[in-house]
Amino acid sequence: MDHPRKERTLVLIKPDGVQRGLIGEVIKRYEQSGLKLVGLKMFVPTKELIEKHYLIDPEWRVKTGQKTIDSYRKKGKKPPSEDPLKITEIILNNLKRYMVSGPVVAMVWRGMHAVGIVRKITGGTEPLTSDVGTIRGDLTIDSYEVSDIDGRAVRNIIHASGSPEEAEKEIVLWFNEKELINYRLVSEEILYDVNLDGILE
Ligand code: ATP
Ligand code: MG
Repeated sequence: MDHPRKERTLVLIKPDGVQRGLIGEVIKRYEQSGLKLVGLKMFVPTKELIEKHYLIDPEWRVKTGQKTIDSYRKKGKKPPSEDPLKITEIILNNLKRYMVSGPVVAMVWRGMHAVGIVRKITGGTEPLTSDVGTIRGDLTIDSYEVSDIDGRAVRNIIHASGSPEEAEKEIVLWFNEKELINYRLVSEEILYDVNLDGILE
């Protein structure tokens, strides 16, 4: 296995993030963590790409439907359906409409615990309950309930890979290897080097 400092993750700034003028703010938050940006592009994705992206994980339909049901229950509310698959059928359609509505920014970030660090900075899926201090918690206001009533996807600014394995599968969908740059950042020495003898003169 590669050293954990080589971990990669895929981040998408969704159409609402671009429209809200948050590209710079979002990049700043990941960049300041110490992770390294190794790929970046902006384009309008196709519905085919979005469907492939969300269905990479064979469990996605069940997990996302269940997560929605649990979130309704936790708030003492009745979920739109008791069947997770019915919920995700609707979510996937709404996601496809949402994600192709304008440009998105696709990025690959690399570094120690890239997946976990990016998810921590991003916050939980539903902005109403994502932690303060996170991108989704600080910079937007949506909820499952209102998005379900309105028949649209939750507008939560970001997609971030859920695990290193998922990240590798997603990166191949969104980037060719040629678009990803192998390079060193000077700051990596202080983040990763075991021997710091070179600092004092
Ligand atoms: P996480 O960061 O927790 O992995 P995610 O963004 O991958 O979150 P998923 O549960 O995989 O979230 O759902 C994918 C996307 O679908 C969400 O980001 C959100 O935009 C939308 N979505 C998820 N659940 C709902 C829902 N119940 N109603 C409307 N849109 C939803
Ligand atoms: Mg996910």
